[in-house]
Amino acid sequence: MTIGERTQLKINTDRLMHSIDELGAIGAYHDAEANVMGVHRLALSPEDAEGRRLVKRWFENAGLTVSVDAIGNIYANRTGLDSKLAPVMSGSHIDSVPTGGRFDGALGVLGALEVVRTLNDLDITTRRPITIAAFTDEEGCRFGTDMLGSAVATGRIALDDAYGLTDADGKTVKQELEAIGFLGAEPVGKRTPHAFVECHVEQGPALIHEGIDIGVVTGVQGISWHKLIITGTSAHAGATPMGFRKDAGLAAARINCRLHEMCTGSKYGSEMRATMGVIHPEPCMINVIPGRITATVDLRNPDDNAMHNAEQDLDDYLQHITKELGVQIESRQTARTPAIIFDESVQIAIETAAKTHELSHRRILAGAGHDAQEWSAVCKTAMIFVPGLNDGISHNPRELSTPRQCADGINTLLSVITRLADEGE
Ligand SMILES: [Zn+2]
Repeated sequence: MTIGERTQLKINTDRLMHSIDELGAIGAYHDAEANVMGVHRLALSPEDAEGRRLVKRWFENAGLTVSVDAIGNIYANRTGLDSKLAPVMSGSHIDSVPTGGRFDGALGVLGALEVVRTLNDLDITTRRPITIAAFTDEEGCRFGTDMLGSAVATGRIALDDAYGLTDADGKTVKQELEAIGFLGAEPVGKRTPHAFVECHVEQGPALIHEGIDIGVVTGVQGISWHKLIITGTSAHAGATPMGFRKDAGLAAARINCRLHEMCTGSKYGSEMRATMGVIHPEPCMINVIPGRITATVDLRNPDDNAMHNAEQDLDDYLQHITKELGVQIESRQTARTPAIIFDESVQIAIETAAKTHELSHRRILAGAGHDAQEWSAVCKTAMIFVPGLNDGISHNPRELSTPRQCADGINTLLSVITRLADEGE
């Protein structure tokens, strides 16, 4: 079979959806408000352990060699014709947020498994090995750091730092890896794939609204998080003349308006996003001027220069507000990840694959963080997005991609993996 013929192969959609449903039943709960089943499968919880055991069994049944590394990432290897060549890796995560859906992460892991199952059915061996990966704690909901497994595997986060992270009950990552039986023997940082490709639900409305089948992900935007503590003076709402106030609430409101302005002009590009997600006043009374506000700022931008300028703008504005309103502002950056640009040749491979399957496609920037961004530090990497119903809602039990949408994504993934796995040195 030629490479051209191989790229037109199709997966078994029923088998893919059956696997998604079966994994989705682990940690399933009924969401009364939406009247749908959601998924609660926090990283390193008993539910995550059960999901891991199921996926591991499926990997083994597909004839793959499974290993677990020291941060609990699961790798399943399919041999190629030339075992000296680096593998093509594809995967994602199976942990979920507390109120998640069946597709976030699971589609990428089970989609890669379906690719291998299809190649097995057709008795096709690629030149390079293929590795499927399920990464530990992508969501970061339990231990506070997202993309944890892939970040440790690729060297951004040190293993001991990751081990020491604790959940709300004080349990560490290392204790919980041991407790669920997934503290693996393989050292981290040893894997350098030929390429990494991840299929994921878009988690946003763009593709479904435009009627596009496949998103070719160009990169991941940079994220800058800040915690602000604004201190003024709490005083009587009626007896304190306006000119005598040091109103922390007013300062927070002004800063929030400034953030909105930063996203409406062209100064920081059309993709600039800014959100004040937490605004917590003290004492939080109807007739008292807030003396203290705890607030957060989330800035996102795909361009690191623009992000840097936006951060500077925020700092300058905080100074300005301090003087104008007589408040004090303590600002601390709590997280910062750089913008990631995915590999052009892998993006082209995805576009070519989508064309082969007669699927509409367009380039799109990822709004959320993904395991693929960590792998882009060590090998050529890109992602495939599939649309979802309900405006592509995710991190929500209403998350839903149809069998057709999932199959479009995984057929594209199949073509991309086969193409990359037939590449030479
Ligand atoms: Zn995800």
